[in-house]
Amino acid sequence: MTDPQALLSDELKQKAISQGFNPVGIAQIPGSNRIQMRTKSLERWLTAGHHADMEWMKSKKRLEIEQILKGAQSVLVVGLNYFTLPQKKKSKNLMIGRYAWGNDYHKVIEKRLKKIGTWLTEQRPNSQWKICVDSKPLLEKAWAEEAGLGWIGKNSNIINAKRGSWMVLGNLISTEKLIPDKPATSLCGKCQKCIESCPTNAITEPFVINSKKCIAYHNIENRSKEIPLEIQKAMGNWVAGCDICQEECPWNQKEIPISNDPDTKAKDWILNLTIKEAMKKNEEDWQKALKDSSLKRIKPWMWSRNVNYILKNKKET
Ligand code: SF4
Ligand code: SF4
Repeated sequence: MTDPQALLSDELKQKAISQGFNPVGIAQIPGSNRIQMRTKSLERWLTAGHHADMEWMKSKKRLEIEQILKGAQSVLVVGLNYFTLPQKKKSKNLMIGRYAWGNDYHKVIEKRLKKIGTWLTEQRPNSQWKICVDSKPLLEKAWAEEAGLGWIGKNSNIINAKRGSWMVLGNLISTEKLIPDKPATSLCGKCQKCIESCPTNAITEPFVINSKKCIAYHNIENRSKEIPLEIQKAMGNWVAGCDICQEECPWNQKEIPISNDPDTKAKDWILNLTIKEAMKKNEEDWQKALKDSSLKRIKPWMWSRNVNYILKNKKET
């Protein structure tokens, strides 16, 4: 006779796949030694100040999953593939990180995970669940690795051997004891391409990104009127985010599945944004364009700041 928890675990993952997630996997809390190791790495990263001014990264809840849901026993981890077009060659347009080309992934993933959670409640009315998509603190990449979705690459992204690293993650934490998947093992080997390709040397050692040196931190998160000169100079056309260390990864050079998910479809304005277009936009235009986009984290004045640095660089070269 099939173990009812094994059946539930399989059905739960099937539900997740039917909601458009792939890869998906389950980890059991407290997880293997690797979770403790990743937790210690995060503590070291925070102690070194690599989080810059992202104070929310320091939340204790990030380290202890039980603080998010009392009695939590398992995590369903899901990946939403956002690879929608073949590799973009050097563009004259302003460039935006692929993760943000489609609809706001927080909302997309949350809505779908809620449906899965509702289904789980129907199967196990006494169980409880909570959803985490960036908004609640959780060591989410470590749990994705634990649930077998992929390994944490030296560029700190989750890499799946068949799908590369173009995915955003979501988690459904449950009080049900589910059957875990096999944790992923690293296939980075001796490769160092991400480290070598980073224009600002932000990957200071394998798996360690110093946010203070990372273009994506500065053009998305940095709320200062000015960003450091060395970052300004290295921005190229990256106005929001930076995909260089992912684009260079050999696991993303292979033929990988292209997403047909309507929520990840690239918005036209994002693919066609020029310096001229961006300079023309006023506050209202930006708000309209950024509706339903995770890019609204970048305030209109920050877009202007970023575009002005890109323009200045072009004039000086
Ligand atoms: S996102 Fe860009 S700047 Fe940041 S580590 Fe990767 S290549 Fe370097
Ligand atoms: S570029 Fe190489 S080292 Fe970096 S994440 Fe990809 S496989 Fe790992």
